[in-house]
Amino acid sequence: RIDDHWLQLPNRWDIPVHVCADARVPLEPAAVDEALGVLETADTLRRLAEATPGYDGPEPRITRVALTPDFHKGAGIPIGTVLETEHALLPQAVGNDVNCGMRLEVTGLNVDRVRPRLDALERRLRYLFFEGGRRIALTPAQREGLLRDGLPGLMLAGDAEPSWPGLQPGDAEDCVDRVHASGFPVATAEAFADWVAGSGGTGHDSVIGGIGGGNHFAELQYVSAVHDPAAAHAWGLSVGTVVTMVHSGSLSLGHQAGATGLDRLRAGWPRSLPRPRNGILPFLFDERSEPARRRYLDSFGNAANFALGNRFFLSLTMRAGLAAECGEASARLLYDAPHNLLWQDGDRVVHRKGATPAGGDGTWGEPVIVPGSMGASSFVLRGTGDRRTLASACHGAGRRIPRGATARAGDAELDAFLREFRVVTPLNHRDPMVARRSDVMAAWRRDLKQEAPWAYKDIGPVVSSLDAGGVALPVAELRPLLTVKG
Ligand code: 5GP
Ligand code: MN
Ligand code: MN
Repeated sequence: RIDDHWLQLPNRWDIPVHVCADARVPLEPAAVDEALGVLETADTLRRLAEATPGYDGPEPRITRVALTPDFHKGAGIPIGTVLETEHALLPQAVGNDVNCGMRLEVTGLNVDRVRPRLDALERRLRYLFFEGGRRIALTPAQREGLLRDGLPGLMLAGDAEPSWPGLQPGDAEDCVDRVHASGFPVATAEAFADWVAGSGGTGHDSVIGGIGGGNHFAELQYVSAVHDPAAAHAWGLSVGTVVTMVHSGSLSLGHQAGATGLDRLRAGWPRSLPRPRNGILPFLFDERSEPARRRYLDSFGNAANFALGNRFFLSLTMRAGLAAECGEASARLLYDAPHNLLWQDGDRVVHRKGATPAGGDGTWGEPVIVPGSMGASSFVLRGTGDRRTLASACHGAGRRIPRGATARAGDAELDAFLREFRVVTPLNHRDPMVARRSDVMAAWRRDLKQEAPWAYKDIGPVVSSLDAGGVALPVAELRPLLTVKG
C-alpha cells in the first residue's frame, strides 16, 4: 500500500501496476493473482517476437497496468483492468462484450411528476421492451452506415430521414459531441452482412434496441444529491431531476468479433512456441500478421459501432415511455461512455476491460458514469485525467458474489427488495397467471438474485476511492425509480 487510496503490485518485470482502492474496498485475492498472471504476457510478447520469422520491429511490451476500485476476477484478465502496450494488441484485454458501455440522458422531468406514474410507466416499458412495442425501422443503408461509421453513419445514411419514436432535434449533433467516441470508421461491414441485409418482413429491426441479459439494464433514476454544484449545474443535474441510465453492449456482435480475433491468433501461432500459461494471445504489429489483425479490427469496429447504436435506441425507447406516460419527451444526452474497448494511437494501445475513460479535458473533465445496482445509488463523476490509471475509472460497484453463487441465499432479502424497488423483466411477475406458476417464479427469482443489490459491492467505498485517489470527483448521486432488465 502506497497510501490510504493507492496500492502498487510489485512484479519482476518492473511494470508499474497501480490499484486505486481505499482500505474499505474488499480486495479479492484471486483477482490479484489473476492480475499478476496477466503480467506474464510481457514474456509472451518477447518470445513471440523472437519466434516470428523476419520480425525486426521494436520490442513489444506492456508499459503500464492499472486496476480500478471495483476490480474482480474475470476469465483470465480481471474486470477493471487498464493495460497499455507498445507494438502489440491484446483482443482479450477488451472483454467479450465489445464496447459495452453506459449512456446517461437528462430529462426535463422532476421526480414528483414521475413517481405517481410509475405503475403506468412499468406497463408501458414492459410493452415497449418486451411485448413487441419497440418499432425501430432501419434500412440496409442505415445498418451499414452504423456498422461502418457509428452514430454519424446511422444518422446520415442517405436514403431515409430518420423517424424513430423518441427522436429529437439536436440528437445528431449530441451523438457526435457528447459521446466518448461517436464511431470507429471501418471500411467494411462484411462480417455482419446478414444483419445488414435485415430480415425483410416488417422493416422493424428485432435485434437492435435489445437490452441483453444479466447485468445490462435501462434504468429510470433521479438526482438525490448534488456533490459538485457548479459541475452539476453545467450538466443539467439538480436535486429531483429525472435521468435515464442505459447499460448495454454489442449483443452477439462483440462476442463474434472477439472469437474471430482469437481464432486467427491461434491459427497463426508459431509452431515452435508453446501457448502461454495465462491463455492471453497477442497480435504484434508486424507485416505478417497484418491481414489477420486488420480483419479482427474490422469486426471489432463493427461491433463497437453497433453498441453505440444499441444504447442510442435503448435511450429512445425510455424517452418514448416517458413521453407516453408523463407527457414530457425532452431528454438530452449527457454522455455515452464505453468500458470494454481499445484505443490505438500509433504504436501505443490502451485496453480497458470493465473500466471507463476518466479524462480531464474541458471545463469539468469527462463525465464518468458509475452505476451501483438496481437497489442502490449510482453516481456521476468528473474525470481528472489521472496518469497512474491512464485516465480511467471504474464502471460500476463490481460484483461481490460471483455469478451463480447467489442463487440459494436471500429469499427474504429478495422479497424486501421487490417491495421497495421496481423491476421490469421479460417475465411479468405481476400477472396472476404467471405468479401461480411456482416453477416459473422460482427460476425468475433465482435469476433476479444474481443481480440483487447484495450481489454487488457497496458503491460508497468505490466512489470515495476514486474521489480521494484523485481519479474522478463526484458530481451527483442518483437513486433508482424503475429498472428494466433484459
Ligand atoms: P459489468 O457487468 O459491465 O461488469 O458492470 C456493470 C456494473 O453495473 C456492475 O458492476 C454494477 O455495479 C452495476 N449494475 C449492475 N446491474 C445494475 C442495475 O440493474 N442497476 C444499476 N444502477 N447498476 C447495476
Ligand atoms: Mn458492461
Ligand atoms: Mn456487457
